[in-house]
Amino acid sequence: MDTVWVLGDQLNRAFSGFAGARPETHRVLLVHAADLIGHPGRHRQRTHLVVTAMHRFARELAAGGFQVDEREAPSLAAGLADHRRRFRPGRVVAMEPSSRPALRMLRRNGVDTVRSNQFLCHYEDFAAWAAGRRRLRNEDFYRWQRRRLGYLMDGDEPAGGRWNYDAENRRPPPAGERPWPQRRRFPLDALDRRVLAALPADAPGAGPAGWWPTSRGQALERLDEFVEGVLPHFGPWQDAMLGDDWHLAHSLLSPALNLGLLLPAEVCDAAERAFRTGRVPIESAEGFVRQVIGWREYVWGLYWLWGEEYEGRNELEADLGLPAAFRGAATRMACVAAAAAGVEARGYAHHIQRLMVFGNLALLAGVRPAEMVRWMRDSFVDGADWVMVPNVIGMALHADGGMMATKPYAAGGGYIDRMSDSCRRCSFDPRQRTGPEGCPFTVLYWDFLDRHRERLAANPRMVLQVRNLDRIAADLPAIRSRAAEIRRALPDGGI
Ligand code: SF4
Repeated sequence: MDTVWVLGDQLNRAFSGFAGARPETHRVLLVHAADLIGHPGRHRQRTHLVVTAMHRFARELAAGGFQVDEREAPSLAAGLADHRRRFRPGRVVAMEPSSRPALRMLRRNGVDTVRSNQFLCHYEDFAAWAAGRRRLRNEDFYRWQRRRLGYLMDGDEPAGGRWNYDAENRRPPPAGERPWPQRRRFPLDALDRRVLAALPADAPGAGPAGWWPTSRGQALERLDEFVEGVLPHFGPWQDAMLGDDWHLAHSLLSPALNLGLLLPAEVCDAAERAFRTGRVPIESAEGFVRQVIGWREYVWGLYWLWGEEYEGRNELEADLGLPAAFRGAATRMACVAAAAAGVEARGYAHHIQRLMVFGNLALLAGVRPAEMVRWMRDSFVDGADWVMVPNVIGMALHADGGMMATKPYAAGGGYIDRMSDSCRRCSFDPRQRTGPEGCPFTVLYWDFLDRHRERLAANPRMVLQVRNLDRIAADLPAIRSRAAEIRRALPDGGI
């Protein structure tokens, strides 16, 4: 018999590792590796989610007639060696994994890999698309995907007449009632409790509260709930932040997608159907499909295209440790406290908190990119190498010098004040750029422009921002001195 080895983020029978596999000819291997489960700094809910979802997938396979070897081992490689000793399979086959370390491990251990169908655009096809282009713009890639895959197309034209409705999707938080519904939770069962009991006692983060689907059935329920109740409101408030509403109209589907519990094609099909039957407007359907076939696949393609060297980039020579507030240390910064509380409670923060609170503060203060990648990969339930490396190195920290984003996403407290309700609860003042009450984002924003003035002035998209430094020249000595105090304090807390 041959073996299909299923890794923890490949939990779907439709994946290519199962091509041609039948219960009579193939056994399935799943390894629970102690070095991954006990990985220092990994959020409790992330580990719980992966391990529980693997167990449930193993049960589904067994119910479908497969012999499943689900085993615990010190490492993935040790688990494979134990499996080979016990069953002596003819071949061990696995779908290409989603990260370079996992690919190296499979190759080192003589596993045959088959081309991944986990994404709609394989990374070799992405590389072919990228070849010869001067800039790899997400918008160009997204339109190429739309045409190629046919989502929201009327013949050769985009449905609704426009490719992109992003400009309508940046509204500040609604003042009154919120149009999106609450989300359902999935009650924990005996398996959840058994998995939790076996996790390291010192794993960071709160235990799960049933927000994250751990089976395909639950993931499909989450998808249905999203399409029917939330998708009609998806879009306008994607960039808003509210202290008492952690999910707003976000889909919450990324953890299930990243584990394979949902497939990118089926979530886009569901959005397309909802649009074609008049249940959601084009702005919402387009915004969601863009996230899935555009940004998500773009990030995946770049991860493979730019290779290992990209992970080590630090073009702005950032040298600060991670702010202690990110890991839950007390802070006066209300926006950071709210986002960090969400990470502690659920292993989650929505994309604008990731980019404009965590990422922005790390960019402005000069946090070491590799440290930020590690923290984000370990702290979020949807964290993965391929997600975090381009998003942190390229998008949030501009550590690649502009390979991915044409300008740094740097903003002072005024942006957060406009897009959230945090500033009115904060003891800092987003308009002040000096003094002890000055918002750290605002102080650090001007200090960032000042420290990198020469480099940024050469960027046409930053010229105006840099020119504003002349307008506030008299304040610069006080800004520099306060920024130095803030930067010193951030890694240890106390700000
Ligand atoms: Fe965040 Fe500054 Fe607003 Fe406080 S004032 S919530 S630190 S942006």
